[in-house]
Amino acid sequence: MVVTVQKFGGTSLSDEKSRRHVLRHIIREYEAGDGLVVVVSAMGRRGDPYATDTLLDLIRSNGNALAPRERDMLLSCGELISAATLCSLLHSQGIPAVALTGGQAGIVTDSRFGSARIIRIHTDTLLQHLEERRVAVVTGFQGMSENGETTTLGRGGSDTSATALGAALQAKIVDIYTDVDGILTADPRLVGDARPLPIVSYDEICNMAYNGAKVIHPRAVEIAMKAGVPVRVRSTFSDGEGTLVTHAEAVRGSSGWTDRTVTGLAHVCGVTQLSVSGEAPFDLQLSVFKAMAGSGISVDFISVMPASVHYTVSAADSNKAIALLKNLGFEPKVTTGCAKVSVIGGGMNGEPGVMAKIVEALTTNGITILQSADSNTTISILVTETQMAAALQALHTEFALHLIP
Ligand code: ADP
Ligand code: ASP
Ligand code: MG
Repeated sequence: MVVTVQKFGGTSLSDEKSRRHVLRHIIREYEAGDGLVVVVSAMGRRGDPYATDTLLDLIRSNGNALAPRERDMLLSCGELISAATLCSLLHSQGIPAVALTGGQAGIVTDSRFGSARIIRIHTDTLLQHLEERRVAVVTGFQGMSENGETTTLGRGGSDTSATALGAALQAKIVDIYTDVDGILTADPRLVGDARPLPIVSYDEICNMAYNGAKVIHPRAVEIAMKAGVPVRVRSTFSDGEGTLVTHAEAVRGSSGWTDRTVTGLAHVCGVTQLSVSGEAPFDLQLSVFKAMAGSGISVDFISVMPASVHYTVSAADSNKAIALLKNLGFEPKVTTGCAKVSVIGGGMNGEPGVMAKIVEALTTNGITILQSADSNTTISILVTETQMAAALQALHTEFALHLIP
């Protein structure tokens, strides 16, 4: 059976008017005759009654005192409400539909509450519904562990549910519907002239997503890439084609592709820079990184020198990291309120002059570079949060990303 997977994010489901747009996309695909699986997120964003952050706010006044198992039970409610509501809307239009939890849809995960991994998907129930011409509306962001517990997949995990189902069903396409026109050259909330990219490779978008581009979850892209399932990121509120995500070879041969060094920009706020100096270099280097690893603190922007180490941690981990360093007898220099701005492009590998352009764009705009890091397809710059938007705009202009057709 030919299957299409559609995923609708929170803002696409937040009110009656938005849900009418959702309905339009579902009816169009259903009438085209493919088996249709619709994955839904919780409705809206923080403040909206059933949004994931609103559910989390319910326990904030109790000091967030809730065990991970029960926290996942709470978090899973938002998607349940979306699935049942959407089913009702479909029934009101005479479209046969069934709402399924992650577990009922056959999604089996490990037992890591809050960040569970999908280990397999039993497709029998889903396929049965599709064969009987029902739209299967599946709650995103959740699965069921082998001992029957509800688990969630980590924030933004509905994208992962969609591509994992797409992979298990060998879908012809996974359409990720959201509130923007596709994957843009930068976050449109920060860069006014960001442009939608017609086509990108799995690798490019994976790097953008890992470096903070929230538009799709990186794990979702990895799963699609491994299974070779094409993904499209597109707007719920228009009929535009959005961005096709596929293999690099297909991207290069396509009409929407431009020979580009840089594909896009991404950013992460809430970063703390730590600098530690010491007399005994080996002790310093080893003890610092062992302490971070031992406490499960992930480090970035790592730069190790004979008498000092510099690195960053997330703001959420910074108090713990500082306490560990002080316990070891160090007096770290701490810079809070930093942001990571990344320039990403499959074409920058081996291309001379990219760093020179970055430095020129930032320095001529008065932006201080606190640190830099690079891999073969990404150069990341640490700046203060107050200069982050200006840095993104300066880099966007420098690499002429506003001219992408
Ligand atoms: P959904 O609820 O549909 O999952 P998200 O909020 O998770 O939506 O993701 C969509 C948001 O991602 C957009 O509103 C946009 O602000 C943000 N975003 C960040 N980087 C990008 C980018 N490069 N392209 C498009 N959107 C981006
Ligand atoms: N509702 C979940 C979240 O806000 C999952 C998702 O939206 O993808 O993280
Ligand atoms: Mg999302």
